Amino acid sequence: MQFSFGIAKDFSDYPHFFRFPLDEPLVSPDGTSYHRFEIHIYNYDPTLAPPGKTSVTVSFYTTNRDFWIDARKNDRPKYRAAKTEFTNKIIEILDQRLDIKDKIEVIDVATPATFLRYTGNWKGSTQGWLPGKNIVAPSPVGFKLPGLKNFYYSSHWNQPGGGLPIAIKTGRDVAKLICKENNIKFRVKSRVD
Ligand SMILES: Cc1cc2nc3c(=O)[nH]c(=O)nc-3n(C[C@H](O)[C@H](O)[C@H](O)COP(=O)(O)OP(=O)(O)OC[C@H]3O[C@@H](n4cnc5c(N)ncnc54)[C@H](O)[C@@H]3O)c2cc1C
Repeated sequence: MQFSFGIAKDFSDYPHFFRFPLDEPLVSPDGTSYHRFEIHIYNYDPTLAPPGKTSVTVSFYTTNRDFWIDARKNDRPKYRAAKTEFTNKIIEILDQRLDIKDKIEVIDVATPATFLRYTGNWKGSTQGWLPGKNIVAPSPVGFKLPGLKNFYYSSHWNQPGGGLPIAIKTGRDVAKLICKENNIKFRVKSRVD
């Protein structure tokens, strides 16, 4: 989940990112309790806000994505109320640290339902699998999918950890596999611009 705020305040004296333990757990409407809080201040990127103003985001992992996806699909007022309730709790914590309550000009909230809507990723996951207890266990999703001929699947689902590095690495792995199956030597072109 990502909560983004446009704040009419200059934060150039702050670190761009910090996290801290919470005195009281922060409970999300989806039932998840958070004990730590992290703040990302985009004070290093002048393209994200006009002079004297700053974009600030707060993010959380949730595994209770069905709460958000179902609420958006089946009960839009409940979905909106849940977003507002959680946002208000976050603003209280932000305000204690950054004194921003009366300076917030823009708020944007992205839930698993948002990520599902924009990326089509399963259950609104942003990065694929997290590694499980066995951190070297292979992903249940292979490069070939049952019932599909001449199809190769390269994505962040092919290896636990996910994200861009895995998406890029598995793209390379699939290129190697295609070369092998077609008796072509896999070569990497080095490029200097
Ligand atoms: C808000 C956000 C922040 C993130 N931040 C980071 C970060 O800081 N670092 C990081 O490493 N990762 C980050 N990620 C994760 C990273 O963006 C993804 O893991 C990565 O883009 C996944 O690549 P992919 O190729 O597996 O899937 P995608 O990039 O989702 O590509 C899948 C493609 O398939 C297309 N497609 C879907 N269905 C079909 C179909 N039926 N037919 C044809 N085409 C189809 C889609 O249109 C899409 O272009 C973030 C993700 C989000 C949402």
